[in-house]
Order: sequence, then C-alpha cells, then structure tokens
Amino acid sequence: MTNKSNYEYLLSDLTELNGVGIKTTNLLKRKKINNIFDLLWKLPKSYTDRSLSTNIKDLRIGENQTITIIPKKYLFPRVRNLPNRVSCFDETGEIDCIFFNSYEGYVRKILPLGKEITVSGKIAFYRNKYQLTNPKYVSEDSSLIKQKHNTYSLTEGISEKIYNKIINQIISNLPILKEWHSKNILDKFDNINWNEAIIELHKSENIGKYQDNFYQRLAFDEIFSTFLVNSEIRKKIKKIKKKNKSLNRKKQTNILNKLEFYLTNDQKKTLEEINQDLSSSNKMFRLLQGDVGSGKTIVSLIAAYNTVNSGFQVALMAPTEILARQHYNFAKKLFSKEINIELISGKSDYKTKKIILNKLENNNIDIIFGTHAIFQKKINFKNLGLIIIDEQHKFGVNQRKRLSDKGGKNCDVLLMTATPIPRTLTMTMYGDMDLSIIREKPKSRKPIKTYSKLESKIDDVIKFIKKEIQLGNQIFWVCPLIEESKKIDHSSAVKKFEYLNKLFPNQVSLLHGKTDKEDKEIILDNFLKKKFKILVSTTIIEVGIDFPNANVIIIENANKFGLSQLHQLRGRVGRGNKDSACILMFKSNLSDNAKKRINILKESNDGFYISEEDMKIRGFGDILGFKQSGIKNFKLADPIHNNDLFLLAEKEIKRIENNNEDIGRFKPLIKLYDRADIINDIA
Ligand code: ADP
Ligand code: MG
Repeated sequence: MTNKSNYEYLLSDLTELNGVGIKTTNLLKRKKINNIFDLLWKLPKSYTDRSLSTNIKDLRIGENQTITIIPKKYLFPRVRNLPNRVSCFDETGEIDCIFFNSYEGYVRKILPLGKEITVSGKIAFYRNKYQLTNPKYVSEDSSLIKQKHNTYSLTEGISEKIYNKIINQIISNLPILKEWHSKNILDKFDNINWNEAIIELHKSENIGKYQDNFYQRLAFDEIFSTFLVNSEIRKKIKKIKKKNKSLNRKKQTNILNKLEFYLTNDQKKTLEEINQDLSSSNKMFRLLQGDVGSGKTIVSLIAAYNTVNSGFQVALMAPTEILARQHYNFAKKLFSKEINIELISGKSDYKTKKIILNKLENNNIDIIFGTHAIFQKKINFKNLGLIIIDEQHKFGVNQRKRLSDKGGKNCDVLLMTATPIPRTLTMTMYGDMDLSIIREKPKSRKPIKTYSKLESKIDDVIKFIKKEIQLGNQIFWVCPLIEESKKIDHSSAVKKFEYLNKLFPNQVSLLHGKTDKEDKEIILDNFLKKKFKILVSTTIIEVGIDFPNANVIIIENANKFGLSQLHQLRGRVGRGNKDSACILMFKSNLSDNAKKRINILKESNDGFYISEEDMKIRGFGDILGFKQSGIKNFKLADPIHNNDLFLLAEKEIKRIENNNEDIGRFKPLIKLYDRADIINDIA
C-alpha cells in the first residue's frame, strides 16, 4: 500500500510496482527509466479504441475489434509448431481464436469453455471463418477491455498491455501532493493541481494538447524547479561574507591608458559590474557572456589587476594550454614588471613546478595562468581572491559550485563564455550566477564576409586561398563532422590534408581527434607562429585562441552544423584587422529552408541573434551540443514554445526571493524534479 501524501512513492524503485519484475525493470532502466517518477514522462503517442464491441457477423476484417464470445471447443494439435485453436461463438456466428507459442494450460485458463469472455485484437478471415490470432486482450471482465488503450513508443520486450497496466497502476496510486505554488501562479493554470494534471497528461484524448492547463502547469513545474535550485545556489553563495577588495581606480586608469584601444561601452559596463562585486563584502559568482571576439579577456585581466592591487592573488584557468599561454603573454605585455605573473604548464619540469608552487604559497605570484591543473590538490594559495575561468561553457552547475567552494570564502568567481545563447537557455543553465553581457564588438572589427559554395566548385575556393596565401594570410579548413563515426571524420580530414598538401606543398598541417594533446599544442603554436599556411582540422579547434593572421575559414559540409556553431567556427577568423572571409561548402544545392538559415548567418554577425534564430529552427537541444553538457533535459518544457512560462518562472522566483519566502513547501518539487546532489545542500 502506498502512503497517499508521500511523494517518496514516486521515487521508489520500479520493482515496487505489482507485476514488474527484474526483467521489466532492466528493460526500462536501459531507457533511463529508473523509478516510478521517470515513467510519468513517457507519454502516450496514440491510442486504440477498444471501447465499442460488436457481433461476430459485423466484424470488419483487418481492424482491431472487440467482441464478447463463448469458447466451445479446444483443438490442441499433437504436432509441434501448429498453433492451439479454440472455436468460439456468439449468437450471430463463429470465430477461431488462435494461439502460437502458448501452452494448453494457459489457453484453457484464459478461455474457459462455456463462459462469456471479451477479446480484442486484429480480425482475419481464413477458409470461410473469422480468426483472431494471439488476441491482445482477453478478459472475463469486459470493462477492462472496453476502453481506449494508449500506445506508447514501447521499450523492446514490454507489451502494450503490460505497459498500460503499469501506467494505470501508477496513476491510480498517485500520491496527492500538497500544492507548492502560490495562488497567483495556480490561477494561471486554472487551479489544476499536480495530481490532476498528471492524470490528464495520460488520457488518450489529451494527446498533443500542449496548450492545455494540465500540460502548461507541468511544464511550468519543470522550469520553476530548475530556476528555484539555481536561485538557492545563488543565494547561498551570495550569503558568504568575504573580505572586500578595495579598488585602486587610479591604477586601473593608468593600465587602461596603456592599451592600444579604448574599451567599448559594454566592456566598460561589465568591468564596472565586476568591480562592484569585487568591492562588495559578498562573494561574486558572475558569468561574463560575450560573443567571440567581443573582448572579454581584457575585462577579466583588469579585474585581476584590481584584485592584485587589493592584496590578493588571482588564478586564471583556460581549457587548453595554448589559450592559457596566450592570456599569460597578453598579461605580461600589459603589466610588464609591475606585478608577478606566472604560467603553470604541463610541460614545465618538476623543478620549475615546485618553484611555482612554493611561490604561490608564499604570495610571490600575483596571477597564475594555467589549465585545470591550477586547481590540483597540492596547489595552495596564500591569499586567493579571484578565480577566472575562461571558455568552460561545458561546466555544469555542480562543477561551478565545487570550484567556487574550493577557492575559499574570500575568493570571487568569474566565468567567461563566448557562447551566446538565447535568454531562456541562459536562465536555465546559468541561473545560479549573476550575468554580465557584452553585446557590442570593438568598432575596429570588420565583419566577416560569408559565402556559400558548392563542393563541385572547389577550384574557385583553391584560387581564392592561393591569393590569400600570397598576401601572407593563413587559412583554417574545417572538415565534415559526421557524428556517428570518429573514424570517418578522421579519414575525410586526412584526405583533405593530402589533397591540399599536393597543391600547397609543405604549407599544410593536420589536426584531428586522434592527434594527441601535446602534438596538438605544437601544431597550433606553429600555426600561430606562421610556420605553415593552412590548418586542416575537424571541429576540434578550441575556442578562444587568437590567430590574428588567419583570415579565411572554409567549412565543409556546412549543413551538418547549426547556425550557432557555424557562427562560432567563423569567429576563429576576423580577430585581426584584415578583411576576412568564411566559405561554407555544401554537397548539393540548398533547399529554400536551408538558404533561409544560411542567410541569417550571412546577414548578421550577432551571436545572440543568431542563436535565437537557430533555436527557433532547430529546437534548443541541438544548439552547440548543449544536450551533452549537463543542461537539464526538460521533458515537457520547451524554451521556444514556452517562452512565457520561463518568464513567469523568473518573475515568481524574484518575488519569492524579494519576500524572503520560506521554500520548504517546494521540497517535494525539488526532490522529484531535480539533481540530488544539489538538493542535499538545500532541502
Ligand atoms: P573574446 O571575447 O572572444 O575572448 P578577446 O578578449 O580574445 O575576445 O579579444 C579579441 C581581440 O580583440 C584581442 O586581440 C583583443 O586584444 C582585442 N580587443 C579587445 N577589446 C578591444 C577593443 N575595445 N577595441 C579593439 N580591440 C579589442
Ligand atoms: Mg576569449
């Protein structure tokens, strides 16, 4: 028996269900259905209406029909592989029920002679007689059959009948949960409660009714719970009191005056937001979001500089060594000897590393640059005041929080990402952080001219890059991405390399998924140093690295990418002040729809706009592979179609925050919908 007010029933193991054994459990687990709650979100796809019964004489051949019959004779052949047969009748005619692979005993049990039995299944007609082979439903209780039976996209090995039985069992045992939403919110969904909404969700007549209250409410629950968890993390981090940094504005101005350029307005604005956080006595947990090339690095370095001048150390972490080194070199030039900076590299020998570790512990290094290695256990900072993390958009909520904890209470955290995403997604993915956005690009930046070309016109492309190479420029050549097979990626890149290397001997290098990490860094470094002209690669070129001399990028099989991804790839060029070009190559002529998409890219250079459009076309899961990146996988909610629900959830969260409302009532919601490891901290 279930305790009706207890949500924990929903979190119990599938084996708790009647009639579900290890075998079914394992089949479901393969589909990532681990508990009863998970089963609720597999929705019926369609249904078979078995509610109307008929007489034998009115049966329609080839259709699913329901009839009530009386078995009158068994025919159990003694020959193997012949089916068991039961002849049955009603007042209008006769029908044979036929069973392959069923035991006599079983057939006798479900079709006892002389009893009225209701059966349902697909009707056939053979040798002048109606036949029903392996009837899907057989029961003495006709009401069990005479209804609409949902069809689900079934897991192999589980029949529709069993699946319906499981779902019906859950629906009839649903706990009645105490309402967690405010009156005002509930009103928007016509006061439907969670329990009723789930029941409606599984009714066959409600399939596809996405605008109805029950669906909207349940979608809202999903969004809201994510936002609530984000909000709790944010609140928790914000509550941490730290020693505030005292900014030296004069020094900041002096450094800014040393730059060859002026900060854009957005750079100034975001720097100011960060400065505010640094000088407050609450811990900073902030995301700096800005398109490729919008100039985030300088903003973060000034923040680092301010932190150092306030007596703290800074750690800047990049996803690759080469990017860490680029930041390090930029900082070295900018700060000259004024402050102590150091790069910790996987390549540095034991002795050098030891010296660096020592210096860090003794506060003789102000800013340390490196990859995730800078957060190894053995590394101790004397007085870490700011962690800057560049281009780690794949960091999930948990990883971010752990990093923040690791820095200690005086340590502010600044994350940077060049992945402009639609607002609804930002709220979902980064709602635990405060947000600073750079929309504007430096004025000196020239737009990247974007062209599309048929693959058969490759000779034109070769002519084009010949000219560019003569001008001393460098070229990225990105090879097709075929997700299913790394092997094919690899071989197509190798082929292209061989082809280009014949045309441009000794001017081409190759980088693909199998290139090992060290070689990769060497190749990228050589490219940076202009030791060769064309870099052929799969999509593994990391974001963030500045190749000022590369001004052309060719992307093969461009239709394999989403617009955001194309935009990001194209952002690898055009960072210097040369004219730059992006050539998208296609195997065949573009459809009108594809043309429309590509035009968005040709006409705009605004990553935020492009990602919004991309999401409208492709759905949110596909944007830049966010599916794999720890983003919550919504089951009902959809950031495109439910934009209003996202905004409503945001508003409600703000209201709860402002009123300092106790969130205890949301415990079941969070427990059911969200990631357990965070919840333990909260509820
Ligand atoms: P991202 O935001 O992609 O990390 P970067 O910080 O690498 O961009 O900046 C790209 C390039 O633009 C760098 O060479 C940087 O020095 C330059 N840059 C940054 N800010 C400005 C500016 N306000 N005006 C001109 N160039 C700038
Ligand atoms: Mg960057």
